[in-house]
Amino acid sequence: MKYDTIIIGGGISGLVSGIKLAKSGSKVAIVSAGQSALHFSSGSMALFGHDAGGDILHPLEAIAELPATHPYSKIGPDAVKRMLPEVKPLFAEAGITLNGTEEKNHFRLTPVGAFKPAWLSMLDYATVDSPDNIPWGKVAIVNLKGYLDFYPDFIARGLNACGLDCVTREFTHVELEVLRKSSTEMRATNIARVITGRVLDDFARDINRIIDDTQADTVLMPAVVGLFDEEPVKRLSGLVKRPLRYVSTMPMSLGGMRAQMRLRNHFQKLGGTYLIGDSVSYGVMEDNRLKSVYTVNLDDMPLEADNFILATGSFFSHGLKATPDTIYEPIFGLDVNASHSRPDWYDTDMYNAQNYMKFGVVTDEDFHVFKEQSPILNFRAIGAVVGAHDALKEESGAGVSILSALKVANDIINGK
Ligand SMILES: Cc1cc2nc3c(=O)[nH]c(=O)nc-3n(C[C@H](O)[C@H](O)[C@H](O)COP(=O)(O)OP(=O)(O)OC[C@H]3O[C@@H](n4cnc5c(N)ncnc54)[C@H](O)[C@@H]3O)c2cc1C
Repeated sequence: MKYDTIIIGGGISGLVSGIKLAKSGSKVAIVSAGQSALHFSSGSMALFGHDAGGDILHPLEAIAELPATHPYSKIGPDAVKRMLPEVKPLFAEAGITLNGTEEKNHFRLTPVGAFKPAWLSMLDYATVDSPDNIPWGKVAIVNLKGYLDFYPDFIARGLNACGLDCVTREFTHVELEVLRKSSTEMRATNIARVITGRVLDDFARDINRIIDDTQADTVLMPAVVGLFDEEPVKRLSGLVKRPLRYVSTMPMSLGGMRAQMRLRNHFQKLGGTYLIGDSVSYGVMEDNRLKSVYTVNLDDMPLEADNFILATGSFFSHGLKATPDTIYEPIFGLDVNASHSRPDWYDTDMYNAQNYMKFGVVTDEDFHVFKEQSPILNFRAIGAVVGAHDALKEESGAGVSILSALKVANDIINGK
């Protein structure tokens, strides 16, 4: 099978580059092994939120000051600015509403009641312009009886520390009783399947009753509504008499899963081929070009393309792997930027920055990958596998993934 571009990895970076390329008329295939970081997402995307000086309000100013090795510097601060306005419309076309702006970070409420800087947040997630001035009035934190992946007391403690008056309440629904019989079934994805149709009316009635009882001005609840699309989120908000906001739960992330599914559907509607649950196992290279890749499911049938994109993520998604003394890229044996001395990989204080977070494949200015110090001319890397940034400490994960994906897709479209 021959394509214009084959993308290895179907997380946010693979999907964004796939959508951009498919929209240009290219014949694109994405091979995706399994879950991506999106399945565990906070529901917010980070552009650049933190440096040694603390939280950052204006990410574009910070991006302009980064070292030359940082993915944003390779893309170029001007190109970053130019591409950013594409992002919200791209997600909106896929049916994902994102709120926020690159001009100024907002703050998302975390499952443990802290506020973290964010660039774009999914529809109706709990966010504020500033944790120093939260316009929520009295807050009712509402949980579903027996749901264990949401901790109202942590959230209340965090909000109390910001000067807010909070109450916590629980309620249930007869349809959830089946799930409650086993705590392993009482998960966000299963709950979301129940909270549709007329159950939404019942939920709204119960939440409105809590509002009446507590005189709350704002309601917070776990993000367990809207697995496949945003309609149940919009409908419930319309039925509840005070602002209703969602807080991300412990994984799985319903918002992230919704985003993953919507992006995949959108890519397929644009004509893209998505090989789900398949894994690229090796590739054939000739004259510094990748000719074809082989997958586990397609066995001896090669997938050929003019261009290839590596979007396999970092350690979490097996884009990088470690033995006790080596870090390596497991599919092609690409050159990797990582220390060979294990003690350099990590800091024993787990709260400090960890060097391994910045490990990734070696890339040139245009994100071409290298094997045995030679660039592979039709093969580029995007997203978390690129490394050279600390997605956790900098709060830059989604931004690097999306912008490197757009840059590489643009370069391929422009024949660069
Ligand atoms: C648990 C977790 C939560 C995060 N939450 C956030 C957040 O809320 N906000 C934020 O801004 N950033 C977050 N990040 C940072 C994150 O790295 C980026 O935001 C981004 O999602 C990374 O996307 P990616 O597409 O590069 O890689 P991934 O999302 O890791 O996707 C890589 C994909 O490649 C597939 N793959 C791997 N090997 C193969 C193979 N051989 N063949 C085929 N497919 C393969 C994997 O199965 C996976 O689906 C999070 C990171 C992690 C690890």
